[in-house]
Amino acid sequence: MQTKYIFVVGGVISGVGKGVATASIGKILQEYGFKVTAVKIDPYINFDAGTLRPTEHGEVWVTDDGGEIDQDLGNYERFLGLDIPKLNNITTGQIYDTIIKKERSGQYLGQTVQFIPHVPEEVKRRIIEAGKGFDIVTIEIGGTIGDYENIPFLFAAKSLEKDLGKENVLYILVSYLPVPSHINEAKTKPTQQAIKMLSENTIFPDLILCRAKESLDAPRKKKIETYANIGSEYVISAPDIESLYLIPLNFEKEKLGQKILKKLNLEPKQQPDWSKWTELINNILHPQHILKIGIVGKYIDIGNFTLEDSYISIKESLEHAAAHLQARANIFWIDSKDFEKDPSKLEKLKEMHGIIIPGGFGGSGVEGKIKAIQYCRENKIPFLGLCYGLQLAVVEFARNVCQLTDAHTSEVNPQTPHPVIDILPSQKALIQQSRYGGTMRLGAYAATLEPNSQVLNLYQETSRLKQDQKKIDNLEDFRKGILSTTENTILERHRHRYEVNPNYIEQIENQGLIFSGYHLRQDNTRLMEFIELLSHPFFIATQSHPEYKSHLEKPSPLFYGFLKAALKQ
Ligand code: GLN
Repeated sequence: MQTKYIFVVGGVISGVGKGVATASIGKILQEYGFKVTAVKIDPYINFDAGTLRPTEHGEVWVTDDGGEIDQDLGNYERFLGLDIPKLNNITTGQIYDTIIKKERSGQYLGQTVQFIPHVPEEVKRRIIEAGKGFDIVTIEIGGTIGDYENIPFLFAAKSLEKDLGKENVLYILVSYLPVPSHINEAKTKPTQQAIKMLSENTIFPDLILCRAKESLDAPRKKKIETYANIGSEYVISAPDIESLYLIPLNFEKEKLGQKILKKLNLEPKQQPDWSKWTELINNILHPQHILKIGIVGKYIDIGNFTLEDSYISIKESLEHAAAHLQARANIFWIDSKDFEKDPSKLEKLKEMHGIIIPGGFGGSGVEGKIKAIQYCRENKIPFLGLCYGLQLAVVEFARNVCQLTDAHTSEVNPQTPHPVIDILPSQKALIQQSRYGGTMRLGAYAATLEPNSQVLNLYQETSRLKQDQKKIDNLEDFRKGILSTTENTILERHRHRYEVNPNYIEQIENQGLIFSGYHLRQDNTRLMEFIELLSHPFFIATQSHPEYKSHLEKPSPLFYGFLKAALKQ
């Protein structure tokens, strides 16, 4: 069938949840039996999100193919259950980069290369490429209508409509209705103005999703109909809600899916079945157990406001896993620097059912994190280490169990006598030429899990082993070098520079910390992917970021195992 394109744009203000609204639209259309993918347009000039400060911009999302992307792609993957490639993120920087490279290599054959038509043409080309093999593509344009930098993308959308016909291109405006405290009534005027501004780009919304504190009443829908010439049945409420995952169900109360299909001239391929999804949401909203999970990081540098945004995938992974255990995980953000100033504060970790040490870079707060890991190990508190969390657990074990005094990661102490975490020789040359980007291990890598290990059990129990094996079988040239052909292979995503130093593995294992999974490089070196302690309720860490592969319907094995152990506490 002809691929259909749904553009989602924002009106009035940013930050009202356009990303999750877009993800929810995709999820609804999937339920009607369509193959859906999602594209995010970020109008900034940065090439990608790799160099953006997470404290300003939220977490950096990593794709299977090694893209470092805006966190909205994470929402899409979590709702759609897909592995979305980096091609599906378009930035102004990438568009200009492609055009200038093409011009330099003479591909424009002497033409004057101009903003119109060449920029929108390149945008369209990228959207069409991303949509190949799919029935429907949602394309979220970042920012708000009226932003200068949005213009080329709106132009591209209109141009695609001209090429393909109106029945193949749909526009959805996600707007915001403020409720001024002194009148206590949702105001439609800013939405009317957003519609007007959109019309200056010759675009008229087919549907409007109205973000507001509460559901929109009929008079307000009518008002939008009157002033904006859009049937009030196409004005949909998007009120604040207790769980993100309720959004698709809420939209469906107003038959959003059928309305979209009607506008796109499509018949449903199947009737939606929300039973599993609803059951999981019920578990989220009415949990039988409440768990206290501490996430130990260096928060003073960040500030509370952006904390959740900087660790959104971990937060969501905990929610997914908890939903499968009839539980809720309440997160406590614990500042590791507190333990450096006053080690007696470690006692408060005892109040937690489990502790996570998330990914991180640099030396700040590191000694506090190491103390927290030691406390979890010695006091049998369930511990999950993610990336930096694995590296610091290895440092802790080397120092305190293997008696390697001053063992460290060379990221923090390049002079350490025992660099148990280090840059591998092949990476060192690249760093000396300061090609930092090239030295990162980015994207999905295969890991072979040791027989009889706890991690293998967890990947089996949650069916991930089977699922990843199938993926590996289907993706022959997926990414050269990521596949080991052995059995018991899984895929997780990475974003780090340092590795466990192979010279110390035997010594550490002899003392009881097991390396239970490894990635086999093409040159036959093994990179350590998992560690676990046997005589502990749950002490597991991974060099990867399993939080990038967790979905509500399919939680991450490690988060699931971690919370199961926390429940037993
Ligand atoms: N700083 C560590 C490294 O670069 C870990 C990175 C991370 O936690 N993502 O290897």
